[in-house]
Amino acid sequence: MSYRCPKCFRTEQCCLCSYTKQFDPEVKFVLLMHPKESKKQRTGTGRLCKISMKDCEIIEGIDFSQNARLQNLLNDSRYFPVLMYPGPDAMNAKSEKLKLQMKSNPKKKILAILIDGTWFCARQIINKNKYLLNLNKMSFSKNYTSIFTFKKEPHPECLSTLETCYYFIQELKENDFINKNINPEPLMNVFKQMIKFQLQAENERVSGLRPNVHAGNFRYTKLKEIPDFKIEKY
Ligand SMILES: [Zn+2]
Repeated sequence: MSYRCPKCFRTEQCCLCSYTKQFDPEVKFVLLMHPKESKKQRTGTGRLCKISMKDCEIIEGIDFSQNARLQNLLNDSRYFPVLMYPGPDAMNAKSEKLKLQMKSNPKKKILAILIDGTWFCARQIINKNKYLLNLNKMSFSKNYTSIFTFKKEPHPECLSTLETCYYFIQELKENDFINKNINPEPLMNVFKQMIKFQLQAENERVSGLRPNVHAGNFRYTKLKEIPDFKIEKY
């Protein structure tokens, strides 16, 4: 087993820790992580969220109905829990309902629950935890497109977990739910570096510099263009 960074779970050459710095989003994020996602670290962004944000927590599992930690958080009166989940009944940062809720409980912190995983894993988690759908659902007031375009999701508009946190923080900021000075850019910064490392590794495989160890790699026969992201090292 090769060395893995204990924080970002990447190899030494691909450690992402120096590309991010922690900030306090004034929201508590809880990522429900499918065990499959936790093993698959190449393109997972959940751990990058945890490194980047204060008070971000990952809970691993599939059925969380008996999970004491999640149930305690859901019943903790200091929080206003929401499930990041699209749909016609979902609120967003512009909704009156959210304004009223936060105004009547100014000391409460938003507890944003995200299902971290591929579309397939996320479906499985929802199916095992139907009660989560009874929570207030939260989505966005605008449409966003993922910059993670090489990941094969069923819909190109599917945002990664990290982008979901990033845009949610942006919208909460724009609508005065959290401090105007909060800067979520370290999230996007580390995400861009992850994409860069990933594309470089794929190109090395295509060029025969790396063994084709992953099933399905036959799809990658063309060199990919590496986007010219502006990336900071902190
Ligand atoms: Zn690291």
